[in-house]
Amino acid sequence: MNTAVKIHPAVDNGLKPAAADFAGGTLSCACSTNKVQVTIKGQIAHNHVCGCSKCWKPEGALFAQIAVTSRDNVNVIANGDKLRVVDTNAAIQRHACKDCGVHMYGRIENTGHPFHGLDFVHTERSTESGWAPPEFAAFVSSILETGTSPDSMGAIRARLVELGLPPYDCLSPPLMDAIAAHVGKANAARK
Ligand SMILES: [Zn+2]
Ligand SMILES: [Zn+2]
Repeated sequence: MNTAVKIHPAVDNGLKPAAADFAGGTLSCACSTNKVQVTIKGQIAHNHVCGCSKCWKPEGALFAQIAVTSRDNVNVIANGDKLRVVDTNAAIQRHACKDCGVHMYGRIENTGHPFHGLDFVHTERSTESGWAPPEFAAFVSSILETGTSPDSMGAIRARLVELGLPPYDCLSPPLMDAIAAHVGKANAARK
C-alpha cells in the first residue's frame, strides 16, 4: 500500500462502506460560528474524487470528493444568507460560504444540461457516517493544471487503482454515456 500518496482525507485510509437504508445527513461549512448548514435527504449517488480545478477541496487535498443527489433532497437550514455563487457563468452554480469558502452545494439551472435536476455535494462536510464511498476518480490529469508535478502522476494513478478508484481523465464511462445519450436524444428531437 502506497499510503505516502495522499488523495483526500476521506479515502486515504481506505474506503468506508455505505450504510444500508442510509437516511442522509447535514453538511456544515467550516466557520466556527454561524455555520451554513445544508441537509441532504437520503443516500447520494456517483460519489467520486475529482481532480478538476473547480470543485472545492479541503486544505492540502490533491482531489475533491463530490457526489450527486436530486436537488429536491437539498435544503439550506441555517445561515443561507452567507452563501454566494462562486462563478455565475459556470454550468454548475457552486454555492459557497463567503466567510470560509466551503462549497455547500452546486446546482445546475440550465434545464437543457444533461445533469439538470442534480445537485453536487461534499459529504465529508457532514458528521454522519454511512454515505456511499467514492467509486472512481474523475479529471485526474487536471491536477497538473494546479501545480502537481508530471513525474508524480504514475504514483498517483497507481494509488487510485489501489484504493479501488479507477482513474479517468474525464468522468466515468457510465456518466460520459449519460451525457452523450442526452445529446443524442436532443439531436433526434430536433430532426
Ligand atoms: Zn463558512
Ligand atoms: Zn471537479
